[in-house]
Amino acid sequence: MKAVRLHAYHEQPVVEEVPEPKIGGPLDVIVKIGGAGVCRTDLHIILGQWAAAMGVAMPYTLGHENAGWVHEVGSAVTNVQVGDTVILHPTPTCGLCRACRAGQDMHCIASSFPGLSRDGGMAEYLLTSARACVKLDPRTRPRDVAALADAGITAYHAVRKAIPLLYPGTTCVVIGAGGLGHIGIQCLAALTATTIIVVDRSPDALKLAEQLGAQHTLTGGRGAEVVLDFVAEEGAEADGFAMTARAGSYYVIGYGGTLHIPTLDIISTERNIIGNIVGTYNELAELMVLAEAGKVTLHTRDYPLDAAPEALADLDAGRVRGRAILVP
Ligand SMILES: [Zn+2]
Ligand SMILES: [Zn+2]
Repeated sequence: MKAVRLHAYHEQPVVEEVPEPKIGGPLDVIVKIGGAGVCRTDLHIILGQWAAAMGVAMPYTLGHENAGWVHEVGSAVTNVQVGDTVILHPTPTCGLCRACRAGQDMHCIASSFPGLSRDGGMAEYLLTSARACVKLDPRTRPRDVAALADAGITAYHAVRKAIPLLYPGTTCVVIGAGGLGHIGIQCLAALTATTIIVVDRSPDALKLAEQLGAQHTLTGGRGAEVVLDFVAEEGAEADGFAMTARAGSYYVIGYGGTLHIPTLDIISTERNIIGNIVGTYNELAELMVLAEAGKVTLHTRDYPLDAAPEALADLDAGRVRGRAILVP
């Protein structure tokens, strides 16, 4: 089968022939990929920023935002059948550790991360596990929802955590209305009554944000109760913390920058800094309810698998409105 493989950091991945994955364990599931999202994290991976954290052996297949159809199942799989339409939680988990038993999939001590720690879904087939499969309405086109598997779940997870803070009369600043931000704005509009203010360098992204329910108003210098920072690099992180009101919460969702904040500023204003990494299985299932109800839609641009290098270059150059999706 064809796959988008990274051979070395700081080199562009190449599309090449590799053997198809095989069922190894009783809970394994092989999915025929219908859509694989192209993510800023793929650019970070290529630059080697995840090398120490993931320690993956080269070459390997990229792609951590995957949806498709069940192609083959292991002997103990009961929750999905061949032919089912599925979106995949990004980290197949063990189901047995304390975090898994608490539903905190992203903190599993024995999970893997296809596309980061092993072969991912920018390919015709992907090996995953029964626990990672969220079954979808068979009418759902995988390419339309694939990016919800990581970009979506991550944005939803942050919004879901912020809900108790976003009562009517509050303000939420969204920094970055790109792949994650444009999903976050829709989740805020669907789940809260907060006033949404969007900050983005791109006029196109701001136009899209407005269509999705963002209002452009000023906070009168008081700051926002919640700041969702989908950029968190190149200075956005300093601006984001500065925009956070007293007793407010600054959610770091994008990454790449470094926060330099005097501890005096943190105690004297009681501001909170909150980290966010993907989300739980149930959050992905909830997000798919919103997606199937038309309350969260992805603006996507499809590329054939062979065009993965162009898709990555377009994302890097800011030419993608919404999300680039590879369709094998
Ligand atoms: Zn991603
Ligand atoms: Zn676990």
